[in-house]
Amino acid sequence: MNLALYNSLSRKKQVFEPADPKRVTMYNCGPTVYSYAHIGNARAAVAADVLFRVLRSIYGADHVVYARNITDVDDKINIAANEQGVDISVITERFSKIYNDDLAALGCLMPNMQPKATAHMGEMVAMIQVLLAAGHAYEADGHVLFDVASYEDYGQLSGRALGDNLAGARVKVADYKRSPEDFVLWKPSKVGEPEWPAPFGNGRPGWHLECSAMIEKNLGTSIDIHCGGQDLKFPHHENEIAQSVCAHKGAPLANYWVHNGFLQMDSTKMSKSLGNVKLVHELLKTWDGEVLRFALLSGHYRSELDWTDDLLKQSKATLDGWYRVIGAGEGQIDPGFMAALLDDVNTPESFGHLSALAHKGDGLSLKACANLLGLLKNDPDDWFRGKGKEGGLSDVEIEALIKERAEVRAAKNWSRADEIRDIFKTENIILEDGKDGTTWRRG
Ligand code: AMP
Ligand code: ZN
Repeated sequence: MNLALYNSLSRKKQVFEPADPKRVTMYNCGPTVYSYAHIGNARAAVAADVLFRVLRSIYGADHVVYARNITDVDDKINIAANEQGVDISVITERFSKIYNDDLAALGCLMPNMQPKATAHMGEMVAMIQVLLAAGHAYEADGHVLFDVASYEDYGQLSGRALGDNLAGARVKVADYKRSPEDFVLWKPSKVGEPEWPAPFGNGRPGWHLECSAMIEKNLGTSIDIHCGGQDLKFPHHENEIAQSVCAHKGAPLANYWVHNGFLQMDSTKMSKSLGNVKLVHELLKTWDGEVLRFALLSGHYRSELDWTDDLLKQSKATLDGWYRVIGAGEGQIDPGFMAALLDDVNTPESFGHLSALAHKGDGLSLKACANLLGLLKNDPDDWFRGKGKEGGLSDVEIEALIKERAEVRAAKNWSRADEIRDIFKTENIILEDGKDGTTWRRG
């Protein structure tokens, strides 16, 4: 089975060849944990999760190591901690957990590792010392900066030449920088901000350095796949490459770079700064996590995807159709379905094969294939009962009312029986009385 991946570094689709098929390594830039994730953030995590699942099915679950970091050092975290008068760990631990819960609801597997920046300060300081000693970094005005002019391949990923980046942009360049593109490896903390000890002055790391140090420590000098959203290509990934390659005597940081496209609302990137966001934990109040996952995978990961109510309704309707067909038992993986995934993880095309299986009534293969993608994980009865809306009746309350309805009917208490009927009507709960008792679903 050959997997082809579009590599942003070579700008073409390539056959994926891991350095060691017994230990395939992938890294994904994870969240900055200061508030709730939106569904655009989730797209990056779900895209990486599908790739992780495909790699596990090719190389075996024990032979793929996936690390997704937690950025727990950041200005926005400091601001939130200051506003609430708590230590940064209170904020970061709370939102790390929420992030993992949200992604679990979207059917994502836990990565094998979730390294935190705060646990890698020693490694970051050590990497800076290597860069300083090799002449790739310099100290200026209490900062340590990476010297981009010292690395002739700088710009290889984004295709930008030095000088391009800031041309025309009215950004004030700090006068202690040798080149405008030089970026911070270490900087002094402001008063009241957390700081960590370092021989070049107590302070805090630059964001790019966090990922380079966590990759080195947890996965090794060179990894197979580095993922992330398109927006991270420049400067974040470009700078990760510069640091790691220069600290490792020219060894590549990652052999394949995989970037996902943006999730959009009304053709504009969903982002916190624009305020056009839909939070995962809000969406989960109305929609089952599988509906959200299906919607995210209905477009190719590299394409932009517009997030609309229609997309959600369509996704739910397709899943309903599939849940009507699936059977219990072991099914075969359909070759056409697998071929679509092996072709640069083409999920929309793989869905076409799933619909064909549903059409043929091959419920076993449908379930086996959909499960590989993290879909059709529910029991069909639970699925059709649906997800309770906030403020609506819970499953337990509904079942208690059904029991009461049987009792009051037996006791010929018709007024209470009518009341219960009216409650179900208002709450849009549909009952079906059969020979084996009463079943229900949300309408
Ligand atoms: P941030 O919290 O903005 O650093 O983003 C965390 C991850 O989500 C990064 O991999 C981003 O590239 C990704 N991301 C943020 N917004 C979007 C979006 N609208 N569509 C797809 N990915 C996004
Ligand atoms: Zn990163």
